[in-house]
Amino acid sequence: MISFQQVEKHYGEFHVLKNINLEISQGEVVVVIGPSGSGKSTLLRCINRLEAITSGQLTVNGVQVNDGKTDINKLRRNIGMVFQHFNLYPHMKVLDNITLAPMKVLGISKKEAEETAMYYLNKVGIADKADRHPSQLSGGQQQRVAIARGLAMKPQIMLFDEPTSALDPEMVGEVLDVMKTLAQEGMTMVVVTHEMGFAKEVSDRVVFMDKGQIMEVSPPEQFFSNPREERAQLFLNRVL
Ligand code: ADP
Ligand code: MG
Repeated sequence: MISFQQVEKHYGEFHVLKNINLEISQGEVVVVIGPSGSGKSTLLRCINRLEAITSGQLTVNGVQVNDGKTDINKLRRNIGMVFQHFNLYPHMKVLDNITLAPMKVLGISKKEAEETAMYYLNKVGIADKADRHPSQLSGGQQQRVAIARGLAMKPQIMLFDEPTSALDPEMVGEVLDVMKTLAQEGMTMVVVTHEMGFAKEVSDRVVFMDKGQIMEVSPPEQFFSNPREERAQLFLNRVL
């Protein structure tokens, strides 16, 4: 579903992604970990072309992400993204935050968009907050709204960039629970996180990055008990 082949990316002179090769199948949950600055966010952002690669091949469902002929909006419709800072529209009610894109981009009616929004708000456990504004919600609730907003576009892939890093510790679990449910329902997910418990319990594979390279790709049982790379071992010693 997602394929990186010999992908390189530079920011000006800075070589941020080096020879990235990675294949992600439908329904797979891949957790990306590694030190700050190792290129995790950049890797994720290349998938929906928030960043362009410098060379190599990157395809989503067989479509070349960086081909000038590719319809970027169509590509992005199929890929939901959840950020560390929830990026909700502060002046809009929760419900309107969720219905905006489906109405504007998919062209569905307000009634249908609201029904869909309520379905997903219910799914993330905050249907009672539909008429509130984001500032009236806790961080964990806001992040669940952001997830519902992504899901309302009915994407095939969900990308998460440190979705719990900005949350107070007591709210991390409620967001991870929603993500776990999504994973169990078969969503294809790429998750950058420092939550090693989530990686262990939910992921199919762990990708360890360092200095722009993928150093190791292993099933979580193997990665956490016996990482092949010394740098992965050192990283785990610091975070566990
Ligand atoms: P991570 O998410 O693993 O912390 P990032 O992908 O955000 O890493 O960043 C990797 C490196 O690229 C960092 O050194 C960062 O400073 C640099 N970088 C990120 N975005 C840009 C940008 N838009 N322009 C220049 N350098 C950037
Ligand atoms: Mg990052």
